[in-house]
Amino acid sequence: MVHEGLKKVLDGVAAAARAAGRAPEAVTLIAVSKTFEPPEIMPVIEAGQRVFGENRVQEAKAKWPALRMRWPDIELHLIGPLQSNKAAEAVELFDAIHTVDRPKIAEAIGKEMRKQAKVLKLFVQVNTGREPQKAGIDPGEADRFLKDCRDTHGLEISGLMCIPPAEEDPRPHFALLAEIASRNGLAQLSMGMSGDYAQAVASGATHVRVGSALFGSRG
Ligand SMILES: *Cc1c(COP(=O)(O)O)cnc(C)c1O
Repeated sequence: MVHEGLKKVLDGVAAAARAAGRAPEAVTLIAVSKTFEPPEIMPVIEAGQRVFGENRVQEAKAKWPALRMRWPDIELHLIGPLQSNKAAEAVELFDAIHTVDRPKIAEAIGKEMRKQAKVLKLFVQVNTGREPQKAGIDPGEADRFLKDCRDTHGLEISGLMCIPPAEEDPRPHFALLAEIASRNGLAQLSMGMSGDYAQAVASGATHVRVGSALFGSRG
């Protein structure tokens, strides 16, 4: 079965990868299903998509256990901010967390992964635009935080994530994220949304998080 929105985004990601001399398979599409309900999500699953992103633990908990019962090979990524009192639920529910951004959260996730004997794929969120209202570690503190995640909290970090400031050219932010990842030996970059995933792929994104371009506007 074909889903038009999914097809359009997959084609766009593949074209951007080829234009950058990269293999389309090097980029994972995370279909961001926040605010959408199972009747809108199921056609995307039936069209073959298996990786989904949600930004709230409670919303994911209400929607995904039933869908995963039916499609056990689905991979669920938390892409929104996490409170430490939700760490247990987040570790139970998700396969990946993109928003590790402070010691308290790193500690809580580490503790829960050991307790539940479950290993999640982890990304550290970097506030590349140094926006006061936005989550993420300051770019100047990223190296030290990454070291702390490993040495103090026993976490293996797979890569970095950013959300560039809305009104700016995202490319310098993608480049900064890639530079921090490279000097820390991290291979994965979670960057690019509906409006800028092609530029993100050109800058080396391994994970793009696309919602509205795939599902339609969130109203
Ligand atoms: C909502 C969201 C997205 C997807 O945004 P679209 O513009 O709808 O593609 C990506 N990343 C994060 C962190 C989000 O919260």
